[in-house]
Amino acid sequence: MKQTVAFTKEASNVFFHILTRCNLNCRHCYINYQQHGKKTLSIETIQKWLAEMAGRTKNANLIFLGGEPTLHPDLSVAVKAARKMGYASVTIDTNGYLFHHILEKVTPEEVDYFSFSLDGAEPETNDALRGKGTFEACTAGIRKAKAKAFKTSLIYTVSAANLRELQRMPELLEALKVDRFFIQVIGLRGKAGKKGAVCSPVTRTQWLEEIPRVARRAAATGVHAVYPKVYLDDADPFACAGLVADNYFIFPNGRVYRCPLCEDYPLHGFRFRDDRLAAAPPINETDLFQLSIPEGCVLNKLVQPETLTYTPGGSPAYRIACCLLKEEIPPA
Ligand code: SF4
Ligand code: SF4
Repeated sequence: MKQTVAFTKEASNVFFHILTRCNLNCRHCYINYQQHGKKTLSIETIQKWLAEMAGRTKNANLIFLGGEPTLHPDLSVAVKAARKMGYASVTIDTNGYLFHHILEKVTPEEVDYFSFSLDGAEPETNDALRGKGTFEACTAGIRKAKAKAFKTSLIYTVSAANLRELQRMPELLEALKVDRFFIQVIGLRGKAGKKGAVCSPVTRTQWLEEIPRVARRAAATGVHAVYPKVYLDDADPFACAGLVADNYFIFPNGRVYRCPLCEDYPLHGFRFRDDRLAAAPPINETDLFQLSIPEGCVLNKLVQPETLTYTPGGSPAYRIACCLLKEEIPPA
């Protein structure tokens, strides 16, 4: 049975990009060096920012990201520090290369999930998007993490380039004994937002036909399946997570966004100043969250208007949900 996961004030999420450097060069990478710099945060700064966020949020879920966060030599120190500060859960998002022997330096009590990114059921499709050898490295990383009793997630970013292989993922998830399956919609930011980008979004019809069906099949094999709602049904209320939820997307140049759709622009609502979180001057994303439009998400209309269509009378043909609204299917 699928459920919509409404975001709430009670559940805080801190998405912490501790560096932007990566060993890969994926064709749809969302990291934007012009906007987020090339800095690797020192462990001292990471600890100060973690403490600041822990003081501001209650029992937040913490997700370490990059670039590739395992390239940071002190990631294990950051994980242990976060645990002591009382974060409710700690996840490490990785491309699977698991640098600096990270699996040897942390325990399943300290890291709730390692989340692996894979964009194809076959090396050919995945490696065309993420680079030669990445399918092998990622699946080997999942096996190593499972062998050490870590829980794992797999993130599959759906685009026109890999939609056809999504239906083959449930078998692979089962074989790898993955615990959670996140289907992601490709965001038109970073490289994917540039003119002539290789990865384009799938159509609304493709999304509605294919994604819930594959998620149901994955859940039937014992995986917890999660995917973004994207299109609201007529009776669904619209809500902007920027107004009603508590999410922070931190970048190493100090910018802190509440909405991931803003990340290609200097629209961050907060920034770190002297290691304290401070509101950014207007106009920023906070001002935009207030706007109510018939198309649903205002940022979607501003930054990726090509996702919208209109009736001959000029009304929106459908509403776009907040990108942080998810559908969830628990394992069968
Ligand atoms: S692994 Fe992630 S950060 Fe690295 S290039 Fe690919 S999408 Fe970008
Ligand atoms: S995606 Fe849209 S609805 Fe969600 S936080 Fe951003 S602006 Fe608000």
